[in-house]
Amino acid sequence: MNIILLGAPGAGKGTQAVKIAEKYKIPHISTGDILRKNIKDGTPIGLKAKAYIDKGALVPDEVVIEIVKNRLNEADCKNGYLLDGFPRTVPQAVSLDEFAKIDIVFNIDIDLNILVDRLSGRRVCASCGATYHVTSYSSEICSQCNGNIIQRNDDMPETVRARLKTYTLQTQPLISYYADKNILVNIDGNTSIDKVFEDIVEVLKR
Ligand SMILES: [Zn+2]
Repeated sequence: MNIILLGAPGAGKGTQAVKIAEKYKIPHISTGDILRKNIKDGTPIGLKAKAYIDKGALVPDEVVIEIVKNRLNEADCKNGYLLDGFPRTVPQAVSLDEFAKIDIVFNIDIDLNILVDRLSGRRVCASCGATYHVTSYSSEICSQCNGNIIQRNDDMPETVRARLKTYTLQTQPLISYYADKNILVNIDGNTSIDKVFEDIVEVLKR
């Protein structure tokens, strides 16, 4: 089974990806992770990607696509895989269709206000970088190092809203693309981690 997982930042996509990969014993392919690994290992494609990142530019589609294509050709992908973080756009999805056969696309659908609450509740220790969430940790002092806990600019509600708006604008056409192919399944993400996972498993049983 070749699966794509879509979901806004904060929707719990990463957590679900790990659970699915574990249960079905398929590799969890995160483009961010492979990109970092290629850069760390100094592969030709990694060096290419690094040149863009060093300039502060986005890594272009053709480079990301090549990285994904190489990864999907590895032996552990023969019995299926889970793509997380790719594709992000319709042109990427069209390229992916040229070398991969996707069976199902899960979209973890979640209320925007819940996402803003989750993401803007994040706090970080200014000294050691430990992360907290206001719902589970109310102190302003880090439990690890006694440093000050702060809210990063990235996590301010207005920045979060802007980021989610960009995500939605970019992803909506992608969702339509897969809906048109009849392989899109929307999963209600407004519930618990366990319930979301149960719903995904239920669909995969069919
Ligand atoms: Zn700390």
